[in-house]
Amino acid sequence: MRRGENLIEIDGSFGEGGGQILRTSLALSLVTDQAFRIRNIRAARKKPGLLRQHLTAVNAAAEIGQAKVEGASLASCELTFRPCSVAASSYHFAVGSAGSATLVLQTILPALIVASGPSTVVLEGGTHNPHAPPFDFLQKAFLPELNQMGPMIAATLERPGFYPAGGGKFTLTIKPVPQLSPIQVLERGEIQCCRATAIVAGLPRQIAERELKVVREKLAWSDDALHVEVFPNGPGNVLMLEIQSEHITEIFTGFGELGVRAETVAQGAIAAAQAYLEAGVPVGNLLADQLILPFALAGGGSFKTVPLSWHAQTNIEVVKEFLDIDVHVASENERVCIVEVSQRAGKHLSSGTCRW
Ligand code: AMP
Repeated sequence: MRRGENLIEIDGSFGEGGGQILRTSLALSLVTDQAFRIRNIRAARKKPGLLRQHLTAVNAAAEIGQAKVEGASLASCELTFRPCSVAASSYHFAVGSAGSATLVLQTILPALIVASGPSTVVLEGGTHNPHAPPFDFLQKAFLPELNQMGPMIAATLERPGFYPAGGGKFTLTIKPVPQLSPIQVLERGEIQCCRATAIVAGLPRQIAERELKVVREKLAWSDDALHVEVFPNGPGNVLMLEIQSEHITEIFTGFGELGVRAETVAQGAIAAAQAYLEAGVPVGNLLADQLILPFALAGGGSFKTVPLSWHAQTNIEVVKEFLDIDVHVASENERVCIVEVSQRAGKHLSSGTCRW
């Protein structure tokens, strides 16, 4: 990747080679008012190029940033994005499939939390998709960390949407700040509350009960901590394990799949929660890759986590293309590392003036 005269060149096949490279580029292009071109979009994925969810993200970013875009079509592997200025407003974006609406939000939220006024965003599509943050993770794990940095963001779920039917809907209200404040997330503190929620949508309640039975057996959580939620639309099933500690909340998820036993779905989520509890860190593996961008925008701060995923390492490199920051990753031991973000000589944030 390299910075052209006025266009940052991004190679979408770099590192982990997935949709995050595109989403991070769009998000930071809006915040920093820098145009970019991305080639080889999602080159490492089975179906490369823009899927409907990515196209919705591109169009949403273009709308809020009044951007000029070339290459915004399904399956496109190359895109040029020239933002103008971010408008705080009321927005409504629909993925139009079961594609993840939370990943669309991941693309536009950074610009709206440092915009010049409050915004409301309604998103429709998948809200509980494999390989994407479930709505509950967004609401209880990710957004509270962002709110610590200054903005006030609240999320409300109207109804869940699962793959393949979609049809989920949620709303965000955003009160921005001019600049995010750096935070330190180095301690988890005492565990205050654990909660397991098994959702079944258009499927027998018994699936959720079987999942919760495994949670009771393996994690020894009491009956008070186990909850079934039943929705009519679907089909869909998800088990979410919420660990609320003094300084942070984390959520670990198992997604129901056709042909996979409820007990196996539960085991996957339980193994992730156990690994987190044993590591003793505040920030889990997936939250870590999602915190890199806001920490970089804050220009500082640090968090303790497990060794960084390939996904997170790729995200760090993309962020550095847009922001003059350093990210120092120090291993405390085999299972724990500290990520420290600091600012290099000032890169200016959006001037709000069109350059095209
Ligand atoms: P990508 O694979 O590039 O499309 O990125 C997927 C994003 O979704 C990453 O930021 C992951 O951290 C996030 N993600 C995937 N699965 C989960 C999950 N179960 N809980 C929270 N976040 C997730």
